[in-house]
Amino acid sequence: MTMSQNLTERYAASLMNTFGPPKLVLTRGEGAYVWDADGRRYLDLLGGIAVNALGHAHPALVAAVTEQLSTLGHVSNFFATVPQVALAERLLDLLEVGPGGGKVFFTNSGSEANEAALKLTRRTGRTHLVAAEGSFHGRTMGALALTSKAAYREPFEPLPGQVTFVPYGDADALAAAVTDETAAVVLEPVQGEAGVIIAPEGYLARAREITTAHGALLWFDEVQSGMGRTGEWMAHTGSGVTPDLVTLAKGLAGGIPVGACIGVGAAGELLQPGNHGTTFGGNPVAAAAALAVIETIEKDGLLENARLVGARLAEGLRHPHVTAIRQRGLLIGLDLDAEVAPQVAAAARERGFIINDCAPGRIRLAPPLVLTEAQADEVVAAWPGILEAGYAAGQPGGPS
Ligand code: PMP
Repeated sequence: MTMSQNLTERYAASLMNTFGPPKLVLTRGEGAYVWDADGRRYLDLLGGIAVNALGHAHPALVAAVTEQLSTLGHVSNFFATVPQVALAERLLDLLEVGPGGGKVFFTNSGSEANEAALKLTRRTGRTHLVAAEGSFHGRTMGALALTSKAAYREPFEPLPGQVTFVPYGDADALAAAVTDETAAVVLEPVQGEAGVIIAPEGYLARAREITTAHGALLWFDEVQSGMGRTGEWMAHTGSGVTPDLVTLAKGLAGGIPVGACIGVGAAGELLQPGNHGTTFGGNPVAAAAALAVIETIEKDGLLENARLVGARLAEGLRHPHVTAIRQRGLLIGLDLDAEVAPQVAAAARERGFIINDCAPGRIRLAPPLVLTEAQADEVVAAWPGILEAGYAAGQPGGPS
């Protein structure tokens, strides 16, 4: 029995089966590569699902975490810490509002950031929310109420709140759904889980006009699309739109669990002492990790790298079986002309590449922002063979 088989059996015996059997047992990572328990190397084009911004075991991240942990590892949120305050200030800078232009609440995940935002919207005195079809905002009960996918929702109904879902990208449908009772409109500027669906030109600006006209909050869930993933600090950067709420997580600390709910302007004042809380949110080690990620992205020009390498990769993945490619920075979605994405992802693993089948006919790539052109070219060279093997396995009667 190999070590991977051994771990897979023990996993099945001791972990809840919420993700299905593990596809690999991973033991080590360096840069954009990971190794499995049997010593095989893979190019990681999923990056912990848009989390490992600096790749694996980046020296700057390791140093920041080690240093903070050996200085002050955790205190209660009754106390302030230097990294926590510095990170809040940096995030407000990245949102282009600056300290004083908004307020941050730290969490440990994207779902929790969205739960905080959801509670914050209740402080408007309104309860009605508008979200988009295809949305993903998390699996905790409040975040799930904003997530559109029936398969995720149905086993847990009734879900809290009053949520209206509108087709993503259709400003007229949004205008029709928002009323003076709407507390907030929540949108992903790029829908990641749905397969990298990019907001059409002008949509976010129309959403701003519509919400302002009705006194509703505009909330961008940038958990997946934020923190440099799209080659800009935020996917909405450059849209000219200032939202009232932004939620972040995933890439924020490059793999150390941290999330943030940011209220801009008056929205930053809606949660008052006693309204909300968390034990771990804003932990100094997590905050120091996030500061190191932001610093390294700046120092090493990783926003530009994401734009250049992302464009090169997307271009190289063109193929007769690929009917659409959507790319912003290093967030890439591909549509296939058959429902063989799981088989294609399996064929990729067999060839040493980790990619994600986010729907039966859809592939998503969210590699580390440190991915090099040469590494992108490795995937491009292997791509026709991966597709061929995946399609062969996906044919009726083919190997599964
Ligand atoms: N919002 C978005 C846009 C996401 O992509 C995700 C995770 N895929 C979440 C929220 C939930 O984040 P987490 O898994 O950290 O709770």
